[in-house]
Amino acid sequence: MAGRHDPAGVGFEMSSYYARGTQVLSAAGLSSDEKADVVIIGAGYTGLWTALECAKRGLSAVVLEARSVGFGASGRNGGQAIPGWRQGVLDLIRMFDAERTRRLFSLSEEARRSVLTLIAEEGLECDLRQGGHLLVAARPRDVEGLKREADALASFIGYGEARYLAAEEVRERVASARSFGGLLDMGGFQVHPLKFALGLARAALRRGARIFQDSPVQAIEATLNGVRIRTEGGDVLADHAVLACDALPGGPAPQLTSAVMPVAAYQIATEPLAEADQLIRGGLAVSDTRFAVNYYRISSDNRLIFGGGERYTVRPPANIERFVRPFLEDVFPQARDLGIEHAWGGLVSITRSRLPDVGRNGRCLHALGFSGQGVLLTALAGRAMAEDLIGRSERLRDIAGLSPRRFPGGELLRSPLYGAGMLYHAARDRL
Ligand SMILES: Cc1cc2nc3c(=O)[nH]c(=O)nc-3n(C[C@H](O)[C@H](O)[C@H](O)COP(=O)(O)OP(=O)(O)OC[C@H]3O[C@@H](n4cnc5c(N)ncnc54)[C@H](O)[C@@H]3O)c2cc1C
Repeated sequence: MAGRHDPAGVGFEMSSYYARGTQVLSAAGLSSDEKADVVIIGAGYTGLWTALECAKRGLSAVVLEARSVGFGASGRNGGQAIPGWRQGVLDLIRMFDAERTRRLFSLSEEARRSVLTLIAEEGLECDLRQGGHLLVAARPRDVEGLKREADALASFIGYGEARYLAAEEVRERVASARSFGGLLDMGGFQVHPLKFALGLARAALRRGARIFQDSPVQAIEATLNGVRIRTEGGDVLADHAVLACDALPGGPAPQLTSAVMPVAAYQIATEPLAEADQLIRGGLAVSDTRFAVNYYRISSDNRLIFGGGERYTVRPPANIERFVRPFLEDVFPQARDLGIEHAWGGLVSITRSRLPDVGRNGRCLHALGFSGQGVLLTALAGRAMAEDLIGRSERLRDIAGLSPRRFPGGELLRSPLYGAGMLYHAARDRL
């Protein structure tokens, strides 16, 4: 391994519940100079979808990954495939206009279908459960917003999968006292995130993409007619580069760092539960309306996977289990006696608009900041970037510029300044 790449000093090692017993991809590091049409930095969902979509279009693609496939958020997330965008339909109309909102929703639906199609066509084993997604109102004041969103999805978008559930209907499905209503979307589903990342990588490899692990990119340089990407083991010369590596301080894409804020998020997996279905019924993936979202589901081996609590510093808490427990017991007081077998963290990169930052600057394309909705939307970004590279730019135009505002404060001050604001909003969760 070419050193332990840890640009932000994050210290998240691959110790998640998902990594246990999952067969990793064997792909060596870059050890010579290579050429390709496109070089992709990062082997999370964004980079892997881009590689697959490029390969399908006859472009030669090289993926350079600092650690291993799915090492970042893609291999350690909540596994919830949530239709739509992080902003609801009514927010999107407020931010843009009616026509763009309809187009964005149709694109997010396309992304959802792409993920399901890939799983079906590749026979991708990723513990798929199509039990729907439930957004729970964590406070009485959130109920009206969910009702309005359900109406807008039905009447404005014509989307038939979602409906509002009253508090007692939510409680029939989720054994939590913390639910005042909910938005049920039967289009949602859940996956084992790391198995999905590895399956996506294998699909890209089969189509001819090349993936190099343990190959942190050290520099991106412009050449006369392309880019040169430098790693310790060799360089890749390509016509274009795709930055799919998020934008952590100290990473290879300093020009993008003010676009996103890394928020550290933590999860636990309980011991296997004999009556897991009593907690959450029917394979539902659940998240709530809190600013610092709680999200939970039952895994295919009957564990409660629960994510809760965010920290606006990348330094992990001394004891992750102790950090997550209060959030878990707030939602499920009956979980007090459950044994917790795994606890881990990851970085969610968020933008100011909570919509991804996708775009092109000369020969470099980028997509980052999926703000907790990357399980599905990365499929859209990968396709849009691959199409742009063969001169079809419609999708990229549709999703470019969704997050024009940057975080203030530069690399050093950005996190403390914004972190203070986030703490204020997170504190309001408790009111
Ligand atoms: C705890 C947690 C829970 C989440 N839950 C959900 C959820 O339930 N549903 C949902 O839709 N989304 C969720 N998300 C968000 C989702 O996981 C991300 O949006 C998505 O994985 C982003 O994919 P990516 O490929 O852009 O980034 P990543 O998966 O982070 O991939 C970036 C890759 O770039 C590599 N890299 C970095 N620097 C370099 C370099 N210099 N050279 C080479 N490679 C480099 C990294 O090692 C990494 O593998 C969650 C995220 C976290 C952290």
